[in-house]
Amino acid sequence: MIQEERTPAAAADDVRFMREAVRLSRLAAEHGSEPFGAVLVKDGGIVYSNENQIYSQSDPTFHAELGLIRRFCHEKRIMNLRDYTLYTSCEPCFMCSGAMVWAKLGRLVYAAGARDLASIFGSEGCDCSALVFANSGHRPQVTAGVLRQESFAILKDYFGKFRK
Ligand SMILES: [Zn+2]
Repeated sequence: MIQEERTPAAAADDVRFMREAVRLSRLAAEHGSEPFGAVLVKDGGIVYSNENQIYSQSDPTFHAELGLIRRFCHEKRIMNLRDYTLYTSCEPCFMCSGAMVWAKLGRLVYAAGARDLASIFGSEGCDCSALVFANSGHRPQVTAGVLRQESFAILKDYFGKFRK
């Protein structure tokens, strides 16, 4: 995992944008899908946001991150997110991490980790995004754990009832 030094102002920005991603994760559950949210930032401002819509759209691939990348790139007619930072309330899965590679995302910030999510189900999980990036031709910068506890509380509240 790549962790770069952040200035206090940049770290405050990370918290601010992640707060919006976490807010969207809560909304996603209220809208009948799973509690994951993502926002895309460029030049200090949010340019796009998305929540998990798998049930509302009957699309098992409509994760917050993949849905955001697909829709934003299509609407803007762009193929490259190198100048963008994507904030997501939970570490991206293998599929979404792969999409970040194909979109050449510049930077990824996530809150809870995939292992945090797995722990709710009583399993170990794995470092899925790090695995994908380590074995791909493109690696975004990664910052992990911003508002981790806030996001984890929402995930636990939602997925805790499915625990075996
Ligand atoms: Zn995903």
